[in-house]
Amino acid sequence: MLSIKKILMICGLIATTQTFALPQDSRRAGGIAVIPVAKTVTNITYENKPVLVVEGINSMNQIIFGIPLSAPLGTLQLQSSNGPINIEVKPYKYAEQRLSVKNQDYVNPQQEQLDRYAVEAKEQNAIYTSFTPQQWKEFPTFIRPTAGKFSNSFGRKRFFNGEERAPHSGLDIPAPVGQKVVAPANGTVIAIGNYFFNGNTVLIDHGQGLISMFCHLSKIDVQKGQKLQQGEVLGLVGKTGRVTGPHLHWGMSLNNARVDPQLFLAR
Ligand SMILES: [Zn+2]
Repeated sequence: MLSIKKILMICGLIATTQTFALPQDSRRAGGIAVIPVAKTVTNITYENKPVLVVEGINSMNQIIFGIPLSAPLGTLQLQSSNGPINIEVKPYKYAEQRLSVKNQDYVNPQQEQLDRYAVEAKEQNAIYTSFTPQQWKEFPTFIRPTAGKFSNSFGRKRFFNGEERAPHSGLDIPAPVGQKVVAPANGTVIAIGNYFFNGNTVLIDHGQGLISMFCHLSKIDVQKGQKLQQGEVLGLVGKTGRVTGPHLHWGMSLNNARVDPQLFLAR
């Protein structure tokens, strides 16, 4: 039987070919918890901030919650009109990566660069903690933002020239400079910028605190406020910012937690 969406698509009334499926449930630091709750459960928050809820067509809604990379093992608690909702954060071993970066400014930035980074971090934090109301009836399956073989680089513990730094908060896709980067799902460009570590960057707001980020671009083809459909070009792969070679850094932030982008892709 044809769904309403398919009929609208055949009639050309909606252009998107976006498909829908919940992200993978993976209850680890940097993972996602997908929690079905009765529709009567409302006011779902984490640390007093709203979380993403997909309103199901049957009697259940789905909470899609991002578990911070810094979350300790054990129980993490959401609040709701029906009382606490517990999430068990399970152990997960991320790999280690030792990088040699020639430009010392990227290993031990000077004060001026740290000041610049502090301003950028504040700007990005404001984006990650934003919550754009949007009614989700279904959750979109994300597509890969650029072609290329990649390894499991999310969450890696990183050492730059032997010094430990923050774990890797995104997924790196090695690709040649100039290769197209597309929106992995529908959304609105919430910011573009040229950042110290991240280079030329585009951030897309998908609604309800779900933000995607694309870094080290050689070219940005979109403007702030622009609405993007899944598959639309947003820029080109590059090697701007702190990089050892050309690649796309793809980050996903959910309720201000950087989570593994692979969990949003079709299985
Ligand atoms: Zn990266």
